[in-house]
Amino acid sequence: MDFSLTEEQAAIREMAEAFAQDEVAPQAIEWDQAKHFPVDVLRNAMVLGLGGIMVSDAHGGSGLGRIEAVLVYEALAKGCPAFSAYLSIHNMVASMIDKHGSEVQKSAYLPRLCTGELLASYCLTEPSCGSDAAALTTRAERDGDDYLLTGQKMFISGAGATDLYVVMARTGGPGAKGVSAFLVEKEAAGLSFGANEKKMGWNAQPTRTVMLDKVRVKADAMLGPEGAGFKLAMEALDGGRTSIAACSLGGAQSALDKAITYTNERKAFGQKLNEFQALQFALAEMAIDLEVSRTFLWRAAAALDAKLPEATQLCAMAKKHVTDAGFDVANRALQLHGGYGYLADYGIEKIVRDLRVHQILEGTNEIMRLIVARTVIAQA
Ligand SMILES: Cc1cc2nc3c(=O)[nH]c(=O)nc-3n(C[C@H](O)[C@H](O)[C@H](O)COP(=O)(O)OP(=O)(O)OC[C@H]3O[C@@H](n4cnc5c(N)ncnc54)[C@H](O)[C@@H]3O)c2cc1C
Repeated sequence: MDFSLTEEQAAIREMAEAFAQDEVAPQAIEWDQAKHFPVDVLRNAMVLGLGGIMVSDAHGGSGLGRIEAVLVYEALAKGCPAFSAYLSIHNMVASMIDKHGSEVQKSAYLPRLCTGELLASYCLTEPSCGSDAAALTTRAERDGDDYLLTGQKMFISGAGATDLYVVMARTGGPGAKGVSAFLVEKEAAGLSFGANEKKMGWNAQPTRTVMLDKVRVKADAMLGPEGAGFKLAMEALDGGRTSIAACSLGGAQSALDKAITYTNERKAFGQKLNEFQALQFALAEMAIDLEVSRTFLWRAAAALDAKLPEATQLCAMAKKHVTDAGFDVANRALQLHGGYGYLADYGIEKIVRDLRVHQILEGTNEIMRLIVARTVIAQA
């Protein structure tokens, strides 16, 4: 166990870092301010194989593992965490189809998802339930050979601009086992979208309510077996949590890199900021926090790849630890910039705003503690 990357992994990371540096970072502040969803640049990333990172090559994907995925998301998030995070959600949906879709669903959607011809959204949260997702009330009623979907999904990333929606809806009784997953195309009659939410960060991707008013889909639009939707949604989130953690890591690393450069240039009291030992220690603490986060994130990702029984718990631990550490490091990097850190042009305040939501979505960090607590208490 030497924790080093293979040549292929190092090359993938380098490729994603170069892309982030050339195509993402130079525009990130502009996207944030204009609330622009850079679909063209997302598609450029997908041309490099990043639209279906873990999708099997038979269906147009890159056939890589979770470790490679977290390397990519960390690298892209150095350019813009919101950009990388949307790409991770798109990939999460593609992987759900790759893993659980019928052959017809796979050939209908995967090649186009991998190239970015289609973009995807994941619809679990509802206005009245987020953390308690198994209480969802969107219904899918059987109507002959079809289902009619009615309800609302809240906070849906990419919604309105994306083409394919995986919607978790109730086909049975209360609780997790009454939920099934459906693939809904944007053009479906009865599907509509709310306004783009005004948010603290993540402005480079839209967030909208998805309204379903008797949306008719064929029975074969169900993803996986009836009643398995909640299980599929949770399984996808195990991986999603490592992706979001990777996005925090990349954003925070970029903030730390900026702080290292800045404290080497800025002077106060006749010396460079990085000549004050208190600030040297601050930089050291930040570097330690990120390296600990990275090493642990790789462990969680490897556990998922190896399908270890403790993978869910490790992913929850990593999501909580890395997103908390990432936000904290970015915020400390802002402090090291003094007043300039508060100005948009320095790019630090945007990172802080973008990383804050990673402590909330894909399961709040309280829910991550709940998952871990359940497991450790069960071991007693
Ligand atoms: C920008 C953005 C993008 C998003 N994108 C998506 C998306 O693409 N798809 C999607 O389905 N969802 C998405 N979400 C929704 C997100 O996953 C939820 O907001 C999140 O799961 C929390 O749910 P909630 O907002 O309903 O909070 P609530 O569940 O109401 O929680 C409120 C507070 O109570 C705490 N809490 C709740 N239950 C417990 C408990 N048992 N013990 C301790 N504390 C608890 C929570 O941690 C939180 O602090 C997005 C959210 C945002 C903000």
